[in-house]
Amino acid sequence: MPQCTAGYFNHNNLYLINIMMRTLLIILTLCIGWLLFGESPAVKKLTDKLPFGHCSRPLVFHLGGLDSRFELDAGHAEAILQEAAEKWNRAAGKEILKFDAAKGFPVNFVFDQRQQSMMALKRSVANLNEMRLQLEFKKQVLQQEIDVYEERRNDYQQEVTDFNSQVSAFNRAYQHDDAEAGRLRYQADSLKIKQANLNDQHSQLDTQKFQLQMDADTFNQMVQQHNQQYGGEQEFTQRGVYKQNGSDKRVEIYQFNDDNDLLLVAVHELGHALGLEHLPAEHNIMSASHNYSVEENSTEPQLTADDVAAVKAVCRL
Ligand SMILES: [Zn+2]
Repeated sequence: MPQCTAGYFNHNNLYLINIMMRTLLIILTLCIGWLLFGESPAVKKLTDKLPFGHCSRPLVFHLGGLDSRFELDAGHAEAILQEAAEKWNRAAGKEILKFDAAKGFPVNFVFDQRQQSMMALKRSVANLNEMRLQLEFKKQVLQQEIDVYEERRNDYQQEVTDFNSQVSAFNRAYQHDDAEAGRLRYQADSLKIKQANLNDQHSQLDTQKFQLQMDADTFNQMVQQHNQQYGGEQEFTQRGVYKQNGSDKRVEIYQFNDDNDLLLVAVHELGHALGLEHLPAEHNIMSASHNYSVEENSTEPQLTADDVAAVKAVCRL
C-alpha cells in the first residue's frame, strides 16, 4: 500500500486543486457573461443595487455657457440651479444631485429666437401694464376735477336760487331802495362771470374726457394686438432639453420668463438627467407640456407627489 507522503501531489491536494480549478472556471464564465450581457436590464438592475449604482452617488453638474443676452447674472443662475437640485435632493431624502463650480455635466443657457420672443413678450406686457397704470391715474385725476366742478356748479345754482328770491322780494317791495338795486346788479354781474367760468371748465372737462377715451381705445387696440401676437401656448419641451450621448451629458436651457419659471425648467431637465421620464398629468413638473407664465411674481414650482414617487422609483428608494 503506497504510503501517503506529505507533498503537493497527494490525493488530498489533487482534490483541492480540482475545487480551485472549478471555482476559477465559474468566475471566468461569470466574467465573460458580464462582458456579454452587462448592458442587459437584468444585469443593470443588479448593478444599480451595488454601491456604485443609480443615485448611489450624487450626479454632479455645473453652470456651463451663459449667453449674456439672457441678462442673467451667473451667480444668480447658479443659485437657481442649486435650488433646483435641492428640490430633488429633498424629495429623495439624500443628495442625488450636486452642484459644483466646474465638475460634472454642464447646464448651458442657449440663447435663440425662443428667449428673444419671450423677452419681447415681457417688454410688451410691461409696456401695457405701464399704460394701464397711466390711464388709471389720468382717470382718477379727471374724476377729482369733475367732483370739484360739480361742487362749484351746485354752489352756483344755490346762489342763483338765492339771488332770484332776492330779486322777487325787491320787486314786491313798496319802496325801491337804490342801494339794494345796485347790490343786486353787482351780484347779477358776478353770477354771469361764474357761469362763464363754469361753462369753460365744463368744455375743458369734455376735452379731457374725450382724450382719455382716445387713450383707452389705443390701449385696448394694443391689448388685442398683444393677444394676437402672443396668445398661443408654448410646449414645455421647447424650453429646455437634456441630451445624453454615451458619457457626454448636458442640459440646455432655451426659454424662461422669470426666476420661478427658470427654476421650473431647471427642475424638469435635471429630472431627466436623473433618469426620469415624462409624467402624463399636466400639473406635474415632469409633465411634457407646461404653459409658460408671463405674470410677474409667479409662484415657486413644487414637486408633486407623482414627481417624488417617480424619483424614488428611479433611485429605488
Ligand atoms: Zn421633458
